[in-house]
Amino acid sequence: MKRSHLISLAVGAVMCAASAFAQAPPIQPVMMKQLKPDVWAGLGGSGGNSTIYIGKTGVIVVDAKQTEAGAKDLLAEIAKITPKPVTTVFLTHSDGDHVNGLVAYPANVKVIAHENNKKEQQAAIAAGGRGAPPPDRLPQQVVTKQKETMTIDGVKLELYHWGPAHTSGDLIIYSPQNKIVSTGDIVVTNRADDNPNIHMDKNGSVEGWMANVKGMIGLNADSYITGHGDILAKADLQRKLTAVTERRNKIAAMVKEGKSLEEIKAALPDTPAPGARAAAPPAAAAAAPAAARGPVPGFVDAVYAELTKKKTT
Ligand SMILES: [Zn+2]
Repeated sequence: MKRSHLISLAVGAVMCAASAFAQAPPIQPVMMKQLKPDVWAGLGGSGGNSTIYIGKTGVIVVDAKQTEAGAKDLLAEIAKITPKPVTTVFLTHSDGDHVNGLVAYPANVKVIAHENNKKEQQAAIAAGGRGAPPPDRLPQQVVTKQKETMTIDGVKLELYHWGPAHTSGDLIIYSPQNKIVSTGDIVVTNRADDNPNIHMDKNGSVEGWMANVKGMIGLNADSYITGHGDILAKADLQRKLTAVTERRNKIAAMVKEGKSLEEIKAALPDTPAPGARAAAPPAAAAAAPAAARGPVPGFVDAVYAELTKKKTT
């Protein structure tokens, strides 16, 4: 009796997994956009945006996509542009939608990331579960300084990390000769300007976010390839920085007045994402597992935690 109950549970679990798989939305094709003779953006598709630099003998990719199928789609698009192999992948941060597609890349590909990105991936692998990065594709080279310059295959790149922002291991990739910046998820266009995504569970930081955006604005750049959404100009980053600074100041004023986190959240709710779908079945479907985990901490939580931590120390 007990045993048959267990078996039916197991069968049920398999069927649930199978139906979840069957309901997974089809992969959106990546959209390739040429920015310079040897620089492309691979927008959307599976996971975050990618940047592609064609070097003398090989290809450098910034951010790998989320899934094997999505990464294969990107690699197929790259193969239409050049017969050169992908030799190097930079990661802007450790989130699976930028990392996990690495499984589809050549086995000898070199992965470069910030040292905290590698630590976050190692922690995710140790914790296990769905969404963990591929354990055999950890970064072989890590960035530890605020600025590092490297020339790979004739492509000169500057790497920046002005402290934790979206995560503790953000890395900004800048090509001075092309005036192009890959921002990672520090800058996205699928969220409101005053609502950046700060992963508190990965020690992200609102103050660090502002420092990184100021740093990116200070670069001699025309095009900012965001983590998700459209390519932006410098004025767009300035607008986001102003919006975030103003909202943070409002939160700070309420903290000073002794308001509680819940009072501040009620007074300063998140602005909906631009073009937010009024009737979005995927959001409703995603709500169930999110509810089981509890609400994900948002911008107000992050600002409040930073400001109140400071007061007591
Ligand atoms: Zn992302």
